[in-house]
Amino acid sequence: MERFKLRQKSRTAILGGGLTGLSAAFHLKQAGKEFLIFEKEEKAGGLAGSFSINKFSFDYTGHFLHFKTCYGREFIKKLLKNNLTRNLRKASVFADYEYIPYPFQVHFAKLKNRAIVAECKKGLEKPEIRKEYKTFKEWLLGTSGRGIYKHFMAPYNEKLYQCKLDKLLPFGTSAYVPELQKKKKNYGYNFKFFYPAGGAIEKLPEALEALVFDRTLLSAEVKGIDPVKREIIYGQDRKAGGFTDIISTLPLPELIRLIKGAPENVRTAAKKLKYISVFALNLGIGRERINKNHWLYFADPKISFYRVGFYSNVSRKLCPPLTSSLYAEVSIKKGERFDKNKVAEKIKKDLIATGVLKKYDSIIAEQALFIKYAYVVFDLDYKKNLEILRKYLNEIKIISTGRYGGWNYSAMEDAILDGKKAARLS
Ligand SMILES: Cc1cc2nc3c(=O)[nH]c(=O)nc-3n(C[C@H](O)[C@H](O)[C@H](O)COP(=O)(O)OP(=O)(O)OC[C@H]3O[C@@H](n4cnc5c(N)ncnc54)[C@H](O)[C@@H]3O)c2cc1C
Repeated sequence: MERFKLRQKSRTAILGGGLTGLSAAFHLKQAGKEFLIFEKEEKAGGLAGSFSINKFSFDYTGHFLHFKTCYGREFIKKLLKNNLTRNLRKASVFADYEYIPYPFQVHFAKLKNRAIVAECKKGLEKPEIRKEYKTFKEWLLGTSGRGIYKHFMAPYNEKLYQCKLDKLLPFGTSAYVPELQKKKKNYGYNFKFFYPAGGAIEKLPEALEALVFDRTLLSAEVKGIDPVKREIIYGQDRKAGGFTDIISTLPLPELIRLIKGAPENVRTAAKKLKYISVFALNLGIGRERINKNHWLYFADPKISFYRVGFYSNVSRKLCPPLTSSLYAEVSIKKGERFDKNKVAEKIKKDLIATGVLKKYDSIIAEQALFIKYAYVVFDLDYKKNLEILRKYLNEIKIISTGRYGGWNYSAMEDAILDGKKAARLS
């Protein structure tokens, strides 16, 4: 009886209606608790949303499902009514002006340039193993040797993270680099992946939102948080109060900016968090089967993008008959100004230079996307700054979670699990 009474009194504000926020809402609802989601966009789903342009379906670049836990897998399968396609990864690496299968560290011997092959082999025979790896560079040298580092790992990761790799910690990012030492038949976390069979990735948040829509405020941008009064200021000077719990899934730097009375050292730590943004070009092409891969990696610094993927090879439902669709991703350093049109033109030129497109290809759908918070950068001060923020948020009783709320490198399944955990904690 006591427990029931307490539950009735508790009320949780969920900031952000991406997968983490929606999952928190679902799990709170299951536990019979009250909640309200504040989502700034007209639609929930966050980065797991999709777009329909000229009969093409585009995502925020490739959003593929891979499962680590039974709970995550079963939860997502149930939401999508088992309507999932299973794909075995087909990926290649563009290196020294030719394509070899991914991962580079397993297939480099297929390169025509024998000098590069010899260097990679030599390094692999003598990896620079250490008892403790202090930087991402040290970890890469220790796991794949100097040749592979020089010819793929360094240029690829420097292009993606926009910094030298001795400025990064060895964890976080490394979980997504296939390790040779593990002697697995199928390298990497994504050798097998899933995708909604009936449409784009938005099917996932849509299914989840349908279960909590009556408690979701859309077009409700959070503009301020009073942690003492437990009040949320949103939209056009609107206020909602009386929240016993606050779960935020907003990017950490944004959350701290919005908190009334956050101390100076906390604001400074939040400003120091590093991330990279992604400028992506989604294209619909008037030619079928332009490539046999699901995605391609590009380490060459002269090529603008670090990755290109093909929606149409993941699901034919994503484009009209006799066409193909792709995304190209360019990494942008935190706060860097760039000319969207110039980058888009360079991407198109590079797609032809790398043989992805032919000069005569017609572009029949085009969408440029800017993802401000795309990848957290695990710089050497990551732990120090995060510790300050976590301690403060703990003190003012705000749970900050999800990929950008927790400030980590995680996937959609993790978002579901993070939301579940936050609901249990609140
Ligand atoms: C380029 C890229 C590729 C990816 N590929 C994959 C993949 O292949 N597989 C995979 O599993 N994962 C992938 N991910 C990760 C995946 O997108 C995330 O793990 C997941 O979507 C995070 O969900 P979230 O709810 O934590 O955050 P978000 O999706 O960012 O949701 C946060 C929500 O908060 C809202 N919001 C922000 N500010 C405010 C405010 N002031 N007021 C109210 N609302 C606000 C936003 O509109 C958004 O809806 C990728 C991510 C990126 C960037």
